[in-house]
Amino acid sequence: MSRPQQGLDCIGVEQLQRVGPRIAARLAKLGIRTVQDLLFHVPHRYQDRTRRRALSELAPGEEVLIEGEIERVEGALGRRPSLKVWLRDSSGGGLLLRFFHYGRAQREAFQPGVRLRCYGEVRQGPASLEMVHPEYRVLMDGLAPLEQRLTPIYPSTEGLQQSSWRALTDQALTMLAASPLHEGLPAEILRPLGLPSLRDALVYLHRPPLDAVLVDLSEGRHPAFQRLAFEELVAHQLSLRRLRLAQQCVVAPVLAGTGALQQRLRAALPFRLTAAQERVVAEIATDLGRTRPMQRLLQGDVGAGKTLVAALAALQAIESGAQVALMAPTELLSEQHRRGFEMWLTPLGVEPLWLVGRHKGRERAALLEAVASGRGRLVMGTHALFQDDVVFASLGLVIIDEQHRFGVHQRLRLRAKGSGANSAPHQLIMTATPIPRSLAMTLYADLDLSVIDELPPGRTPIVTAAVPDTRRDEVITRVRRACEGGRQAYWVCTLIEESEVLECQAAEETARQLAEQLPEVRLGLVHGRIKGPEREAVMGAFAAGELDLLVATTVIEVGVDVPNASLMIIENPERLGLAQLHQLRGRVGRGSVQSHCVLLFHPPLSPAARARLGIIRSAESGFEIAERDLEMRGAGEVLGTRQTGAIQFRVADPVRDQALVAAAQQAADLIIEQHPDRVAPLVQRWLGRREHFISV
Ligand code: ADP
Ligand code: MG
Repeated sequence: MSRPQQGLDCIGVEQLQRVGPRIAARLAKLGIRTVQDLLFHVPHRYQDRTRRRALSELAPGEEVLIEGEIERVEGALGRRPSLKVWLRDSSGGGLLLRFFHYGRAQREAFQPGVRLRCYGEVRQGPASLEMVHPEYRVLMDGLAPLEQRLTPIYPSTEGLQQSSWRALTDQALTMLAASPLHEGLPAEILRPLGLPSLRDALVYLHRPPLDAVLVDLSEGRHPAFQRLAFEELVAHQLSLRRLRLAQQCVVAPVLAGTGALQQRLRAALPFRLTAAQERVVAEIATDLGRTRPMQRLLQGDVGAGKTLVAALAALQAIESGAQVALMAPTELLSEQHRRGFEMWLTPLGVEPLWLVGRHKGRERAALLEAVASGRGRLVMGTHALFQDDVVFASLGLVIIDEQHRFGVHQRLRLRAKGSGANSAPHQLIMTATPIPRSLAMTLYADLDLSVIDELPPGRTPIVTAAVPDTRRDEVITRVRRACEGGRQAYWVCTLIEESEVLECQAAEETARQLAEQLPEVRLGLVHGRIKGPEREAVMGAFAAGELDLLVATTVIEVGVDVPNASLMIIENPERLGLAQLHQLRGRVGRGSVQSHCVLLFHPPLSPAARARLGIIRSAESGFEIAERDLEMRGAGEVLGTRQTGAIQFRVADPVRDQALVAAAQQAADLIIEQHPDRVAPLVQRWLGRREHFISV
């Protein structure tokens, strides 16, 4: 009896032997529902049980297969059972096996003279090399065949043994040999890259041959692995292109502008735009004049002057009769925008509105009415702008600052605000998180990219020093001198154990101590639990020069702009990542005087922390720091994907596989043009249900 010819993507795992409802549910937890899903669940490492190793040549840390004869057994049953078994082999070497859980039968099987075959990790014990709880079998008459293949180890979940994975993938591989798996990528793409076919790659990864180089395999560098990573990158590109194409079918209001307001703002500025600012302003101006919604990512290091670019874009939209929404991730940053925009726009007769979570009741109702009537031309705020009751009369441009704090879905949700059935507002997304270009192309393939790659003139690089906290008093003296000299300083207390409450307490305590030690210094405190008007008052006073020293938690990370502040102390900088340190440090160095940053660390430093502080001291540009950061950590961590819900990859790693990214983009172009029928199956295979999530 033969089954009708069916693709493996349509055969559910419950059709495999040994898969009942319980196993099926466990597999589903890992996103595995079909035989195809199972084939794409590839091992993350391999064991070599094909060779026996002599006991005399073992080293700690290795996972090995060994055989030996029991020389001696020692141990007791009882409340804390412990069994020691000494093995010896013909090489003259010995090994101690330790068991902590064992039964009577097991113990009785371990008799001097019995031969054992064991697999496990070799460790250095107090007296000799040891294996703790190895997998073992008793060799009855000596001649048991060795494995003929490397043993795959699968990422697993509770209740699924490696032996089950092997049994399941055995069946899946048999089915793969008999029935076709859709070959996602055309041969003309694969051939020049020297990558194997999908079937060959899968067979190799699940059941590598004896001569496979294990390190290449488990680190993802082998062509078989790269084949899958490449296909995933292509699928990801296709998905984002599809998103983009869908946007292209939507109309946006043409916001060509008149130049009237923009000219007046430019004339009022005490400085000229940098060439880089001019370039991106022009790129945005062109986009806004089109009938298709702009989807542009504006990258620029801290202090590069993104806010002004945003203001000019906003004015172009307002000149054209549209409303503008400007969203920031925190209230503090949003306040900062408000101050900047009020200073620039109020003289032009544009009165910005401000809408954040704390606006309630009548105040909120009045704001909403102004937005709905279209009287409010520019509305600034936080997540509060997302809410359903916020209705715009004619939203034409959405600007999002510090995009990395928001997820893809949030970005799309705000866009949906101004959308009719067939229309959507323009979108400008700004970020100071420098994302290396290759990574940006992977993660934001649905966006155009503008980069401000130049800082305004007259900025002097910040001098950064690392000082152990045993020299805290010297640092305090330094703060006193700076303040006496008429300058201002930040003292940043960093996160303790992920607890905002503790962090705030630490900041309060530090502020109290510093106030004692620096009685002549005017000191202010801001942290996450000081809210609203109180915080605004402190920030305002610091910005106005009425406070000399601002003690703060990392809430000041983004946006705060006080040019006279030229000294920053960061306590326990070893707790922070490079990107965050760079963002914090960017709060100083905004004026013309030489700025300093002191990293007041708590010794001893771990090697990784030492390396991070070294990089932050020597590197100035955010892009350089981001590249180094990428080398030290994964892409996910750099972008904070876990918090933001940005894209997760199954096999690919955009950092490790950077070399494949450009090829994946070309492949996506070619597939869309010449093999449009392959797009949907590829996206379905790799993103499946997740694409639905991304395109909400
Ligand atoms: P970021 O890109 O980090 O958001 P900001 O927009 O806050 O940077 O700009 C930092 C500071 O630089 C602000 O005080 C801003 O007024 C100033 N600035 C912006 N553009 C220029 C320029 N072309 N020349 C001089 N100063 C500028
Ligand atoms: Mg900014």
